[in-house]
Amino acid sequence: LLHIAGLGKAFGGNVVLDGVDMAVARGEIVGLLGPNGSGKSTLLNIATGFEALDRGSIVFDGTPIEKLAAHRIVGRGIARTFQLPSMPTRMSVMEVAMAASTARHGVWDTLLRPAPARQAEQAARDKAARLLRELLLEPVRDLPAAALSGGQKKLLGIVCALMGDPQMLMLDEPTAGVHPNLRNDIVQALLRLNAAGMTLVVVEHDMHFIQSLCTRCVVLDRGRIVASCRPDELASNERVAEAYLGAA
Ligand code: ATP
Ligand code: MG
Repeated sequence: LLHIAGLGKAFGGNVVLDGVDMAVARGEIVGLLGPNGSGKSTLLNIATGFEALDRGSIVFDGTPIEKLAAHRIVGRGIARTFQLPSMPTRMSVMEVAMAASTARHGVWDTLLRPAPARQAEQAARDKAARLLRELLLEPVRDLPAAALSGGQKKLLGIVCALMGDPQMLMLDEPTAGVHPNLRNDIVQALLRLNAAGMTLVVVEHDMHFIQSLCTRCVVLDRGRIVASCRPDELASNERVAEAYLGAA
C-alpha cells in the first residue's frame, strides 16, 4: 500500500533521514520505533505532506505522493495524528471533530442541494458522536477542546483523523501522556479499525503497547532503518539493542 524508497532529509547540515526504504502492506499494523531524535516524526511528516523531502520517492496505493500537498494526501486516504496536539480555545470537542469532516455542508450545498446537504451534515454529526463515544470523549464533548487534558487531546486527534475514513492511519505516539488504563482502550479501538480494513503505522516508545498491537516493527536509528521484525523478535535483535544502548 505504501512504498518509501531512498528517502533522505536533512535540516541544515543535520542529516535526519538517510536513505530510508520502507514498505507497508494493506492490513498491517507497523510499529515505528527508535531513540529520541532518530527521525520517526520527520518520516511521518514527510509521508503526510507536512514536510518536504530532499530525495527519494513515496508511492501510496499506486500513486506517487511525495510532491502532493498535505490536503491532497489526506484526500488520497492517509490520515495522521500529532505527537503534541494543540486545540482551539473557542470550539467545543464536538465542533472540532465536525470541523475535521470531509463531508460538504457549506452554504452553497445547502442552497443548491438542501436535502443531500442536510443528510451529509447529519451523517457527519452521527459519525463524530460515534467516534467520540468509542474514544471515551462523550462526557467532555461540549467542553472547549483546549480544556482537555493532554491524553484527551491525543484521543481527539485520533477522532479527527478518523472523520475522513482513511485507508491508512499514521499515529505519532498515541499513548504518550495517556493513563495506562486508557492505553488498552486505545489498543482495542485500533484493533477494531484494523479488523475493519484500516492499515496502521504507529510511532511508539511503549513496548507493551507495541507488543499488544503491532504485526511488525521497524526500528530507526540516526535516520537509518536498522531492523524490521515481529514484535516478539525485538528483544533478541542485536541491532535493536545497539540502537537503544547507542542512544543512552
Ligand atoms: P522523538 O522520539 O523525540 O519524538 P523523533 O524520532 O520523532 O524523536 P524527529 O522529531 O523526527 O525525531 O527529529 C529528528 C531530528 O530532526 C532531531 O534532531 C530534530 O531536532 C530534527 N528536526 C526535526 N524537525 C526539524 C525542523 N523543522 N527543523 C530543524 N530540525 C528539525
Ligand atoms: Mg517524534
